[in-house]
Amino acid sequence: MSGSEGRFPKSLIEFQSRFASESACADYLFERRWPGGFICPGCGDGRAWLLKTKEFTYECAACGRQTSVTAGTIMHASKLSLTKWFWAAFLMATHSNGISALQLQSQLGLGSYRTAWMLCAKLRRAMVNPEREPLCGVVEADETIIPFRTKDDPIVLPAGRSGVGKMLVAGAVEVDGGMPRRARLKVIEGFGKDEIHTFVLSAVAPKTRLVTDDWPSYNDIPDIKHKAITLGPMAAHIVLPWTHRLFSNLKRWGLGVYHGLRKTNLQHYLDEFVFRFNRRRKRHAAFNTLLGIGARTAPIPYHVLIRKTA
Ligand SMILES: [Zn+2]
Repeated sequence: MSGSEGRFPKSLIEFQSRFASESACADYLFERRWPGGFICPGCGDGRAWLLKTKEFTYECAACGRQTSVTAGTIMHASKLSLTKWFWAAFLMATHSNGISALQLQSQLGLGSYRTAWMLCAKLRRAMVNPEREPLCGVVEADETIIPFRTKDDPIVLPAGRSGVGKMLVAGAVEVDGGMPRRARLKVIEGFGKDEIHTFVLSAVAPKTRLVTDDWPSYNDIPDIKHKAITLGPMAAHIVLPWTHRLFSNLKRWGLGVYHGLRKTNLQHYLDEFVFRFNRRRKRHAAFNTLLGIGARTAPIPYHVLIRKTA
């Protein structure tokens, strides 16, 4: 964590005055990227000068390579100003429910819906920290079905655990002293043993105490201490209160912000939801994380952003 964390604006007014200009945003990025001073990504040399002809670009004194403060980040080669990027990240990170592309378009006065949609899509890709630690201690896990509809279909409420035409989602919540800490959500293809084991093993650390209902797919996961609770007189929201709440908040959020989640890119929407859930008590710091992670996220070409995943 760099020294900039503690000085982060706590309000819209503070944010506006601190990041009022392109150069203020560029200085912030420089500090995030090279906290100990510029290092050339080509040769590792620390000597460089700021070019007068290209914005926020340094030329290495040793090898001549030119490096922009946004090179290699999600902001790379963007036509949008840094101030707009910063505002978008701030709004996405600090709004308790997030912000849709349509809202962002009007709030930032963006020229087109497509521009706003791309901005949201790129920030969403920066929401998974590749170095995040797995959940540990006591972890609740469960799975759910999210109904979705296309323009032509009525909403069909699913029955049973069959996955035809529905989105299946596995979830896990780390519980500490009866209170939830971090969560994970993942799109899965089915509720069978293979899918469930893969999800659990990717989400939790070895020796985790896993609490689930008595769905048999959770049995015999290697190196996990498993406690299955038989549902019967006790309702699921009493046995697994936090996964139950996570799923119901997810569904309400999907309806409220996106008017129903779509199958396309669902995992990225789950990532956004989890990003916000895991930083719910430090939303202002979430902005730092978002741009901090963003600064390490490789640029994403347009054809990848629009790729249909379903
Ligand atoms: Zn160099």
